[in-house]
Amino acid sequence: MQSQQLINGQLVAGLGESIPVYNPSTGEVIINVAEATTAQVNDAVEAADAAFASWRLTTPKERAGLLLKLADAIEANGEELARLESLNCGKPYHAVLGDELPAIVDVFRFFAGATRCLHGLAAGEYLAEHTSMIRRDPVGVVASIAPWNYPLMMVAWKLGPALATGNCVVLKPSEITPLTAFKLAELVKDIFPAGVVNILFGRGPQVGDPLTSHPKVRMVSLTGSVATGQHIVRNSANTMKRTHMELGGKAPVIVFDDADLDAVVDGIRIFGFYNAGQDCTAACRIYAQKGIYDKLVARLAQAVSTLKYGQPDDETTELGPLSSLAHLERVSKAVEAAKALPHIQVATGGNKVPGGGYFFQPTVLAGARQEDDIVQREVFGPVVSITPFNDEAQALAYANDSQYGLASSVWTRDVGRAHRLSAQLQYGCTWVNTHFTLVSEMPHGGQKMSGYGKDMSMYGLEDYTVVRHVMIKHA
Ligand code: NAD
Repeated sequence: MQSQQLINGQLVAGLGESIPVYNPSTGEVIINVAEATTAQVNDAVEAADAAFASWRLTTPKERAGLLLKLADAIEANGEELARLESLNCGKPYHAVLGDELPAIVDVFRFFAGATRCLHGLAAGEYLAEHTSMIRRDPVGVVASIAPWNYPLMMVAWKLGPALATGNCVVLKPSEITPLTAFKLAELVKDIFPAGVVNILFGRGPQVGDPLTSHPKVRMVSLTGSVATGQHIVRNSANTMKRTHMELGGKAPVIVFDDADLDAVVDGIRIFGFYNAGQDCTAACRIYAQKGIYDKLVARLAQAVSTLKYGQPDDETTELGPLSSLAHLERVSKAVEAAKALPHIQVATGGNKVPGGGYFFQPTVLAGARQEDDIVQREVFGPVVSITPFNDEAQALAYANDSQYGLASSVWTRDVGRAHRLSAQLQYGCTWVNTHFTLVSEMPHGGQKMSGYGKDMSMYGLEDYTVVRHVMIKHA
């Protein structure tokens, strides 16, 4: 890989500082890559702005055709993309190829179809002799900023709806995990007109800042941390850009005495630890009713202790390393602070794994209290806490007592209770007797400090358009 960026239809090398990209399974450098300069950021935005003039006039059918081609190209290059994602993130190869790639392809196919089905208020005479109609037009140049936990999936969530609705994009993947975006640049170059999609490499202050403060960028879509979201929203105020923020999460998992314990244990083992828990919806903040609490702690500790972490190319690996050394240290610090509290018991795990890679043991911390940092703060690692509760009212109060509002789940056999809680949980999503599962047709997005705006679904599509009123006087 020599020329990793895509600017105005050309694959070009960055001209800025060279920074290393690591293999988190070993701690070794995979490649050194030069990031974009401010001049290159400007070139990318100008290219997107120039391409917008004609791209916005393409029909939904034409854009759908190109998105379907991209989906096919990703599918055809699935093994290479999965290998790159696995190398750069430490994710098990079989999980990327079997779980993530099909979901990524489906996102592009969904938006290809969805853009041909956008509908809304009927045109009509809301004032005598005047016909009013609603248009949904593209916003313009969209800066899409992606995180490192699902690098290609997050790019799909951003490119799919933005391109489907006629916007041009300047994409900045995470500097920690850019490899699949580099491959995507090759695929995109042969499918979309020059300038419609541009891909830049680099860090937040060096590349993200000039991009998100550029006056020709009309919208910034971020999936990332709360701090970065706040920074970008403040920055965007200067030029009144639209923002779309998918930020952190700390999902409550409310388990009632009547829940199917086997399903709960299996569910948390998977949904709390998939991607080494580096997931904004991870089932990490468990509340167990007092009658089931002891059994759940024991069963979950046993189940989680069997999770196999290891190298990503090993078919039996269930859990990879954390994405970076800095993140390993953050997770470790959070767990050490929890372990120092006298009321917390380490039911399993609790330590870094010695060696070159950034591995952390799958961890269950029991006896956590509502006010503990381990309950209140996002850890974003293979770590779950369990807190006992008395009744429905207390469970609801605990669950909603969080700065976050992205995802939640309720585990019960009582359908009335499931409805009552679903109606009152302040989260973008509530699952009942499951967790984590997403589909392209349904929206994903948060409230409170988890941000605003929706990814996927028709709501995601709408987010990338401006609603306009056209009124025609008959006389
Ligand atoms: P991050 O905020 O550090 O980085 C995200 C992206 O923002 C990266 O591309 C980074 O380079 C860029 N960035 C950083 N500073 C910037 C700046 N000043 N201007 C412009 N861009 C800048 O987040 P991360 O550590 O990569 O990802 C983890 C976070 O993402 C977690 O908090 C997690 O909860 C969140 N996340 C949320 C969702 C969701 O759907 N809500 C999904 C995945 C991850």
